[in-house]
Amino acid sequence: MSLVTTKELLLDAQKNGYAVGAFNVENMEMVQAVVAAAEELNSPVIMQTTPSTVKYADLAYFYANAKVAADMASVPVVMHLDHGSSFELAMRAYRTGYTSIMIDGSHETYEDNIKVSKAVADACHPGGVPVEAELGKVGGKEDDLDGGEGDPYTNPQEAAEFVKRTGVDSLAVAIGTAHGVYKGEPKLDLDRLSEIRKVVDIPLVLHGTSGVPDETVKECVKRGICKVNYATDLRIAFSKGVKAVMAEDPDVFDPKKYNAAGREEVKKYVMQKIMVVGSNGKAK
Ligand SMILES: [Zn+2]
Repeated sequence: MSLVTTKELLLDAQKNGYAVGAFNVENMEMVQAVVAAAEELNSPVIMQTTPSTVKYADLAYFYANAKVAADMASVPVVMHLDHGSSFELAMRAYRTGYTSIMIDGSHETYEDNIKVSKAVADACHPGGVPVEAELGKVGGKEDDLDGGEGDPYTNPQEAAEFVKRTGVDSLAVAIGTAHGVYKGEPKLDLDRLSEIRKVVDIPLVLHGTSGVPDETVKECVKRGICKVNYATDLRIAFSKGVKAVMAEDPDVFDPKKYNAAGREEVKKYVMQKIMVVGSNGKAK
């Protein structure tokens, strides 16, 4: 199956009360791991890369990896730009072949966020590529961006207006999650999520989910989250596998040996999260 867009995947998730996992990949082994996990559970899956990842290696490298993995898979696979930091980067991802694009204008003023999100949606929609935007600030440090200070949570009324004026296809909301590693247990504003769901009718996205207890994630899905992003924990899982091999055999020199161990750890992690978000068996 060739790469698909997030459009139908997320609308089906919204209609049927589950979410699709979106997993950040950093290398070929992580791409293979995510798709292998999805195959094993007959689940649709989204892979994504942040600006710092595509700075490390070009968009084209990650697209090529994802495309090969999707072509060989029997489940729907999406390649998504996570936290697109500018109109220009969003357009580069679009031209490269990414099948879903996020533009993150959440660090701009409300009006500037609308402007850039609408511009990206207008540019991507003629080619059939859906766009995710973010309103409010997810805490912590995502990539090179800092969550910042102030009242960061998404305002439901603003969200309704934002969606109407931008025409975006999905919306990342800030309800208390943070990127990176949590210091304590995260406290999420679930009532706010329900309020947003009441007035916004497009799929909602949860960022900063690494470290959020599975039961809380399930509750978020029940209240309208259709895409759940996991990044930090995949990096931790991959490194755990690599470190274990290195600890056991400090003389190991074949990257295939330790990368395979990293790949196995990522696959296990992704399979577990697919069960949490409930997309197992949902591949069409
Ligand atoms: Zn994020």
